[in-house]
Amino acid sequence: MTLSHGCTYLAIPGPSVVPDEVLRAMHRAAPNIYEGDLIKLTDSLIPDLRAVARTAGKVAIYVANGHGAWEAALANTVAPGDKVLALATGRFGMGWSEMADSIGLVPELLDFGKSSPVDPTRLEERLRADTGHTIKAVLATHTDTSTSVVNDVAGIRAAIDAAGHPALLMVDCIASMACDRFEMDEWGVDVAVSASQKGLMLPPGLGFVWFSDKAAHARTRLDRVSRYWDWGPRADPDGFYQYFGGTAPTHHLHGLRTALDMIMAEGIEAVWARHATLARAIWAACEAWSDGDGTLRLNIADRAYRSHAVTALSLPAPDADRLRRWTENEAGVTLGIGLGMAEPGSPEAGGFFRIGHMGHINVPMIMGMLGTVEAGFDSLGIPYGAGGLSAAARELGSRA
Ligand SMILES: *Cc1c(COP(=O)(O)O)cnc(C)c1O
Repeated sequence: MTLSHGCTYLAIPGPSVVPDEVLRAMHRAAPNIYEGDLIKLTDSLIPDLRAVARTAGKVAIYVANGHGAWEAALANTVAPGDKVLALATGRFGMGWSEMADSIGLVPELLDFGKSSPVDPTRLEERLRADTGHTIKAVLATHTDTSTSVVNDVAGIRAAIDAAGHPALLMVDCIASMACDRFEMDEWGVDVAVSASQKGLMLPPGLGFVWFSDKAAHARTRLDRVSRYWDWGPRADPDGFYQYFGGTAPTHHLHGLRTALDMIMAEGIEAVWARHATLARAIWAACEAWSDGDGTLRLNIADRAYRSHAVTALSLPAPDADRLRRWTENEAGVTLGIGLGMAEPGSPEAGGFFRIGHMGHINVPMIMGMLGTVEAGFDSLGIPYGAGGLSAAARELGSRA
């Protein structure tokens, strides 16, 4: 017997749960892409996308995943041979740096390890030493989904300014957009990138790049930009096809319209607050489970640097793997694998897992997931501290 039949919860950190409303909006016959409703619908997405990123800047949409958005951001701002400074607080910071290397840029990695945020002092020192201003851009990750650290983007901006350095600040918000508070303009971000399948509640397939005037100006310094990646026509199209450099992602656009309607109806501040409250409930449970004989550990010790979108945890191998298998096969909750914490396939890799809590999530989903994890501990004989579920419930019940 398995207890997994019923509504399942895909609690991996992307793709996230797609709301039924979004699925219904996408379930339709193929529309005309030359005239008709789709064109107005697409125009209507732009102001809402800017509102979600809190910017008066421009936005370009790509038929791509997050990796495509990474490349798009670089392709419009820096040229082969240019130096970029990548701030790594986990696997994804390294991934953006590797992408930069692969297209002929010269990335330098400032690595802050697998369980700490960016140290702005180290960044400031490095930029001060770059007296010739050879570094053209700083690549930061807002939430690194592998470690679940959330970085202080305003603090990173302050470090760049304190060093008097003109580098662009580019931020990967793929995991954090519409989950963790992000203020593109207020925090002085020049380029922000995201993708559709996390906080934006769509299937994978759309990449977004928001850019400031300063970043748009950097584009003019380049000899050439690939016709496909060029953000100019996408952000300021003369004809509809230019939005996407070809055929529009028709069904995704309908889904995105509905997802943005849902975000706008709730209010972006309320969306952030919901994620913050649900994240605190998860932390309360995990902290209680860690106490006493518990072997569970939260990867990020300081609550101030924990993302509200994802939580990375360790349980001595192979218990993290055993727990994931149990929750998925016996109960209908799929937890995320550990990423970037140990060599894939090595025995140690079975000692890490992640909980995705981004996008379309509410109290019964989170409490159900936490209860499932605790049932898994019991079933598998994994030791844990008492009181996790009631601590989570108290957190939710006592919210302001
Ligand atoms: C998911 C993710 C990516 C990669 O996105 P893809 O859509 O898989 O290419 C990059 N950065 C962060 C922070 C992510 O969470």
